[in-house]
Amino acid sequence: MKQYNFNAGPSILPAEVIRKTAEAVLDFEGHGLSVLEISHRAKYFQPVMDEAEQLMKELLGVPEGYRVLFLGGGASLQFCMVPYNLMEKKSAYLNTGVWAKKALKEAKGFGEAVEVATSADANYTFIPTDYEVPQDADYFHITTNNTIYGTELSDAKLADIYKKKGNVTLVADMSSDILSRPVDVSQYGIIYGGAQKNLAPAGVAFVIVREDILGKVSRHIPTMLDYRTHIEGGSMFNTPPVLPVYTAMLTLRWLKEFGGVAAIEKRNIEKAGLLYNCIDHSRLFVGTAREEDRSRMNVCFVLKPEYQELQDDFFKFASERGMVGIKGHRSVGGFRASIYNAMDVEGVKALVDCIHDYEKKI
Ligand SMILES: *Cc1c(COP(=O)(O)O)cnc(C)c1O
Repeated sequence: MKQYNFNAGPSILPAEVIRKTAEAVLDFEGHGLSVLEISHRAKYFQPVMDEAEQLMKELLGVPEGYRVLFLGGGASLQFCMVPYNLMEKKSAYLNTGVWAKKALKEAKGFGEAVEVATSADANYTFIPTDYEVPQDADYFHITTNNTIYGTELSDAKLADIYKKKGNVTLVADMSSDILSRPVDVSQYGIIYGGAQKNLAPAGVAFVIVREDILGKVSRHIPTMLDYRTHIEGGSMFNTPPVLPVYTAMLTLRWLKEFGGVAAIEKRNIEKAGLLYNCIDHSRLFVGTAREEDRSRMNVCFVLKPEYQELQDDFFKFASERGMVGIKGHRSVGGFRASIYNAMDVEGVKALVDCIHDYEKKI
């Protein structure tokens, strides 16, 4: 039976990207060697890194003065690399979920890390707006999509943040909505994320960094944690995660062929619309995130209080229909369908049909 992959991460990749990755594992572009066993210094691999960087720049409209890096350590290492490289005394964080909180916690080890606002008391069901960004902060950190809670910074809230930040450098964790919609990169000092949501298998993080914000802190930065090391080394100061970078390049090619981020955004809006509409009209289920802050990537919903006992039954029903990975994160409960770029409209319709059929049965 066809499996519909709604996993939150690692997560769905385009079928064609997986097939081409598998081919390269057997024979890398006709060279008679596996991509797993070639040197990253070999002439074969440099074009892969170059193309992945170039396509990130092209698809996201990255302006002059920025560098694109692919680094090991995931998004979680960036939680520490950001303060290491940018924080002299003070930083500011918008705490909108578990990942945002982890990033904030890491910064606290470097000085005064201010939590400007949080919706923790409401189990992160919305994005707060009532705050100011301290203008003496070295940077202001946001998380554009909160994977666990199914909230996302809308274009309107981002526009408000661009105003609020004033002259403070903006840093964003975009792990789970990168490349799902256009972004005005010029507003940011650093954009980073783990690749395993919308881009590649686990094992690599992307970093888009404006070069002129680096080199301003007085502390010693260990070589591997210094962005300048990786800029100088072209993401190959040490051995890069070769296979994930190769797959990232394939995903970026796929996205370009699809029509780029504006085209995928349209489809993402359609998909999220279908699913939220189904949940909003459901007799059994209700969405958990505040409507204006709903994520287009992670759709969180729970059974209404009077139907709580159906939790395992619906999960089993959906699993039998090929719905994979819809169990909600333990901190929200219920269900979460992650509908990243690679999920097509047909997949979302299958889940909608599954919910409708279950309602008929109950
Ligand atoms: C998944 C995720 C992370 C963690 O990524 P790792 O690569 O596992 O460190 C961080 N932030 C957000 C928003 C995520 O969705």
